[in-house]
Amino acid sequence: MKKENKLTTKIENKKFGRLLVLSVFNNEKGRKTCRCLCECGNIKDIYYINLVSGRTVSCGCRMKEINNRFSDISGKKYNNLLVERKTDKRKDGTVVWKCKCLICGKYIEATKKQLERGYIKDCGEHQYDDIIVKTVGKLKVVSYEHDLKKYKCLC
Ligand SMILES: [Zn+2]
Ligand SMILES: [Zn+2]
Repeated sequence: MKKENKLTTKIENKKFGRLLVLSVFNNEKGRKTCRCLCECGNIKDIYYINLVSGRTVSCGCRMKEINNRFSDISGKKYNNLLVERKTDKRKDGTVVWKCKCLICGKYIEATKKQLERGYIKDCGEHQYDDIIVKTVGKLKVVSYEHDLKKYKCLC
């Protein structure tokens, strides 16, 4: 045991992935274990071998983040979009979802990030809607004709 300890380099205060090694000890089974502080604030005991081999890089929070990126959001509503189902497409390492615009019923595709952050709020064709019922010059905007891409106005 003593020989092995001499051969292995000191890893206290070293960082592996998100984990900072606080102390090294042998657990009740005699396995070399490292008490680590994760960047997320969790303290977790990780087997030395898993740590130095790079198998374990966080307390588990990284896996959770990855899982979260792929988590099922079908049926959820974000602004004017209803998430219908997962597509086979991937963007920025995350799933692209098929969403239904609740204003017009048109389908678009968006990632969870785009939806959560509000980058995409509808099918994208309602960006002109905000001037409807407003008066522009002598014209009162009644509606936006998406097919014609023109406004219907009252003079
Ligand atoms: Zn963590
Ligand atoms: Zn729409």
